[in-house]
Amino acid sequence: GTLPEADLVIRLLDEAHARFAGVEDGAVADYIPALASSDPAQFGLSIVGVHGARHSVGDAGVAFTIQSISKPFVFALMANELGHEKVRELLGVNNSGLPFDSVLAVELNPGRTANPMVNAGAIATTSLVPGADAAAKWEFVRAGLSRFAGRELAVDEEVYASESHSNARNEGIARLLEGYGRIYSDPIEATDIYTRQCSLLVTTEDLAVMSATLADGGVNPITQERVIDEDSCKRTLAVLATAGLYERSGEWLYEVGLPAKSGVSGGIITVIPGKGGLASFSPPLDDAGNSVRGTLATAYLSTTLGLNVFASQ
Ligand code: GLU
Repeated sequence: GTLPEADLVIRLLDEAHARFAGVEDGAVADYIPALASSDPAQFGLSIVGVHGARHSVGDAGVAFTIQSISKPFVFALMANELGHEKVRELLGVNNSGLPFDSVLAVELNPGRTANPMVNAGAIATTSLVPGADAAAKWEFVRAGLSRFAGRELAVDEEVYASESHSNARNEGIARLLEGYGRIYSDPIEATDIYTRQCSLLVTTEDLAVMSATLADGGVNPITQERVIDEDSCKRTLAVLATAGLYERSGEWLYEVGLPAKSGVSGGIITVIPGKGGLASFSPPLDDAGNSVRGTLATAYLSTTLGLNVFASQ
């Protein structure tokens, strides 16, 4: 399969931007002090086809921190390292139905980590990263996500420092997992590497390439590099379908019909399996933490471009 022809994709991308740019609903995340100053007017959309076609509209070149959208890529790298059975056993792959930073997700879930898209499971995923010391582990993550993007990614030091100084909750989750034997290296070191991975700077142009790599069975359609094996890619998309949009994951799959992942800085990646990757950025969030304009634009594009994976034609 391929995306519809370029003219139609460009027209509908422009139309989605024009249609939803004026929506004023939602609020920018403020639990990390450095995110509270995000510009609520920013709105960018990018799409990359598995054959390398790229189109963008609006603030597609604006850099922002990747936040939770780092989770599927670190999980994909670890599935590739350890195999899908091992990561399922160590991390879980069921929807928690609870907010991303919930300690109840740990307490109420027999597997404790729930899945790699909530903070408990994501910090446990990062605790599996190989490396002789923290610097080597961090470089594994940074270099791995950079291969998905097809360029060298770097940390926003201001956001990293801000989140590090307000990180008691994530450190608490990591300690709680330690108590249950469900974290696989030093919990505070793993939380620090996780916080750095969340602070990597990306644009929607980068995220669309990263998403298209997941759509392309693990091969980056721009650099042609194989980043992960096909099986790890398929498993990652299954987790995104069930748990990519916080506690709105069911509603998203119902409306959009595509695996996706959102983050609190306002980004969303959407994977169109076998066809391409879509990315949106707009900071105002709904009360679950999903970008309001991003959700509307993605639902519009899924419908008008006929991308829903559950459709018979
Ligand atoms: N760095 C954020 C946290 O762990 C990521 C949250 C998100 O994007 O969901 O709190």
